[in-house]
Amino acid sequence: MAAGLLACAALVAFARPGWSAAAGAPLVGAPARRSLPVAATPFPGLDSLRGASRKLRARFLAPHRAAGIPVLRTYFGDSAVTRAGVYAADDSAGAFHFITMRPFADKVKGRIGSYRIGNFPSEASGPRSRAARNPEGFLEVTAGNADTPVSEHFRLRDFLTKDQTGVWPKYLVLREPLVDKLELVLDELRGMGIAASRLRVMSGFRTPQYNAQGVGSGGRVTDSRHQYGDAADVYVVNGARDWMSDLNADGRVDTRDAQVLAMAAERVERKYPALTGGIGVYKATSAHGPFVHIDVRGHRARWGAL
Ligand SMILES: [Zn+2]
Repeated sequence: MAAGLLACAALVAFARPGWSAAAGAPLVGAPARRSLPVAATPFPGLDSLRGASRKLRARFLAPHRAAGIPVLRTYFGDSAVTRAGVYAADDSAGAFHFITMRPFADKVKGRIGSYRIGNFPSEASGPRSRAARNPEGFLEVTAGNADTPVSEHFRLRDFLTKDQTGVWPKYLVLREPLVDKLELVLDELRGMGIAASRLRVMSGFRTPQYNAQGVGSGGRVTDSRHQYGDAADVYVVNGARDWMSDLNADGRVDTRDAQVLAMAAERVERKYPALTGGIGVYKATSAHGPFVHIDVRGHRARWGAL
């Protein structure tokens, strides 16, 4: 959360003439542009939003936060802060997307539109409601924007709850530090000399109503981080088969390959303490291959076959 707030603060700063927190350079005469949906090039300040990996391609904004960032309105018009949508900006490092979310309050009786979300543990009465927080809002994912890149290797679609196949729009909670960490893990694996063409997200966001179906089996817990958009269950895919790759090259795909992936995540946390969180190693079952849970909960947690 801290990283997100900092980056938002940096964006706010860009709206003040003549001062730029991230680049340290004055920002004078930024062109006003009101046509939609693509902002003038280069859009100021994107560099500060690309994360530790430098590979983030999106920033998610709850409407009240978007309203506090005048530069968004300047570049994209009023709809950027009032209407959920994807707003594309550009600089020399490539395309970037501001995605304005639906506010949390748009969820009524556990749904937005016909998409079932359910109720978050933090909405329940009792002590848990004081301990946990509701997400700020929901990314509205349509058939038309589902392939929007959120980073170099990941798209919105990758993190969707795997149910309600025919229902659109779908709603998603996702946090940038998770995506940043996944990109860094991919980098780390390659740095370790391990072939890793992509990380497949087996399970990213899980709506509370979907998560509740699996509590007590498959490792799901009532207050799972997956409901808050900062956890993903992943494995490395090389080649055509959608299955964990033989990362340690011992001729077998097993828990040891997941341990290699977990080691890469461990090394990322050592280098980037702000991305500290959970790492859990899971064995293969008849339903899935070995995988690793990675999250950015803010404190260290370890479990499984480490
Ligand atoms: Zn998980």
